Amino acid sequence: MALENIKNLADNSLMPTYAHFPVSIESGNGATFVDSEGNEVIDFGSGIGVNSLGYNNDGWINAVTEQLKKVQHTSNLYYNSTVAEYAEMLTKKTGFNRVFLCNSGAEANECAIKLARKYSFDKYGNRYNIITLVNSFHGRTMATITATGQEHYHKFFDPFVQGFKYAESGNIEQFVEMADDSVCAVILEVVQGEGGVVPTDFEYLKAVEKICNEKDIDILLIIDEVQTGMGRTGKLFAYEHAGISPDVVTSAKGIGNGLPMGACLCTEKCANILTAGTHGTTFGGNPVACAGAKYILSTLTDEFLNEITEKGEYIRKKLSEFPEVQSVTGLGLMLGIELKTKNAGEIAKKCSENGLLILTAKTKLRMLPPLVITKGEIDKGMEILSQYLCE
Ligand SMILES: *Cc1c(COP(=O)(O)O)cnc(C)c1O
Repeated sequence: MALENIKNLADNSLMPTYAHFPVSIESGNGATFVDSEGNEVIDFGSGIGVNSLGYNNDGWINAVTEQLKKVQHTSNLYYNSTVAEYAEMLTKKTGFNRVFLCNSGAEANECAIKLARKYSFDKYGNRYNIITLVNSFHGRTMATITATGQEHYHKFFDPFVQGFKYAESGNIEQFVEMADDSVCAVILEVVQGEGGVVPTDFEYLKAVEKICNEKDIDILLIIDEVQTGMGRTGKLFAYEHAGISPDVVTSAKGIGNGLPMGACLCTEKCANILTAGTHGTTFGGNPVACAGAKYILSTLTDEFLNEITEKGEYIRKKLSEFPEVQSVTGLGLMLGIELKTKNAGEIAKKCSENGLLILTAKTKLRMLPPLVITKGEIDKGMEILSQYLCE
């Protein structure tokens, strides 16, 4: 079907919640896909950091289809060996005690918020405030847009959920002041993705961790790894770069290579807070998604994580040669590109019409390529990008 026809069908029937790029992705391999017009396009976005293993990954497809032929859904009222094996593998590999499996980043964060509220309800009876950072992003549900520390999300949908306070990233004095006995948790991103690929200072993360763990304070440290997790930054989770040990970690995006999947992991101290009847999900922990996620997790070896770091450095080096590039932020294969004079949105649109998909975040270009992207695909994409960043 031609792009014009696809556009017409979609634009007349989908709610207009997205400003689509003029591209229709129809089939693919690795970091390259074929669009509706038969053109090959390089993908530096991987569906917003989701398709970690790219398109058409053999190992993942085998894992998913094998499970599909056995059973597609069980509900969480019954056991399933694939789900059980994945949960064991994920907790073992990450060092967490328990996991709640769900379908998205927002749902993983909802779980973390409910866990934090009930943890403090059980223990103290009243504490309910949650500190998040200015410029953060935590999702699109009512609670997670409230948790999101950006004013423009806090419009239209009043009243918002109570009990969120916004701290300035890096300002430890302010955090100390805010961290009173009304606070049950803090939610942080190691690199603010939607906020513009803005890294959170590691010393700040360490200082926050220290305050949270102080006797009599007992604030749960929740790290939102929805965008940064599952190898994206060259570590399994980005908080490892900062050397901290969170109580709760949320994951989604790259966890399932495109099948809806999210996870909320917690340490032993929080293992028995969300009990039968207090939380749930119909689709969460789907065996087909788990079979694929299990395969992905098995590929995230130290060797592959090192390759991700190397590819990130390779891209940075190339970018540093483009005259239009002001600075590059981020970790591993999560990169933000600040431009000197040009508009990132316009460049992303031009690229999309000329064989390359690249994302934006605030005023920056943003790259979240598949973790399996090859040097050849990087070179091809950078060649296209250079047309706009070198002139
Ligand atoms: C994308 C994102 C979310 C929301 O995930 P959804 O799967 O869209 O609900 C939450 N937190 C962060 C850091 C994200 O990048």
